[in-house]
Amino acid sequence: MSNARSIFLFLGPPGVGKGSIARLCVQELGWVTLSTGDLCRQHVARKTQIGRQIEVAMQSGSLVPDAVIIEMGLEWLEEQLVASDVPVILDGFPRTVEQAGALVAFVRRSSDLAIALHVVHFTLDEQALIERITGRLVCKNRDCQAIYSVRGEHVPVTCKHCGEALAKRTDDTAETARERLATHYDHERPLIDFYVTSGVPIVRLNAAPPLDEVFGEFRRRVVGELGHDRDQE
Ligand code: AMP
Repeated sequence: MSNARSIFLFLGPPGVGKGSIARLCVQELGWVTLSTGDLCRQHVARKTQIGRQIEVAMQSGSLVPDAVIIEMGLEWLEEQLVASDVPVILDGFPRTVEQAGALVAFVRRSSDLAIALHVVHFTLDEQALIERITGRLVCKNRDCQAIYSVRGEHVPVTCKHCGEALAKRTDDTAETARERLATHYDHERPLIDFYVTSGVPIVRLNAAPPLDEVFGEFRRRVVGELGHDRDQE
């Protein structure tokens, strides 16, 4: 029997800091993460067939069709879980009940991998979210994609991790941000109801404090509880 595997579903509105916490989990805990938003942007940038299909939906702030995301997400996940038992974070997937249903069905049929799902629900008020989104800069290196803000004392120009230039995401305008937030809230409640009915545990985290404090809370309430924290072993 293989070791058990944990999958953390990061749920929360765009701009709440899911990507930044996921990055810290990779750096500090050695976990792996999949952002379906990053995968979609890579397809669009490489002008693949999928990229051409999803470009309009992405630019308007609406969701990419479930079938495309489910295939992308589950293919990546299966490869990852077979190769390693390191905890996995899914950032921005599932976003609909249909996607969540496909994931839960995948977990049930992969019983040999002994997968445990956990939802981490990040929350922040809408005004703060719009400010974070419209002030966000992202590393242009597709393999890095570190996130920065223009709102600090010094506006960063290059990435401190890889030295690449920073840029605004083309969908990080106030108008698209509002659309993405509306889309998010339309789907969030049914998604939470689905997890409750399916018996997937949910931990709620307030994302308003500075990033290192939110990460500290995440370590205490989520990682420590599960015994995945390397420093606590
Ligand atoms: P994000 O980087 O997570 O904010 O995602 C950016 C965009 O990618 C979204 O506005 C959607 O158009 C698309 N996208 C990412 N993940 C999903 C998903 N799970 N389902 C549908 N569309 C997605």
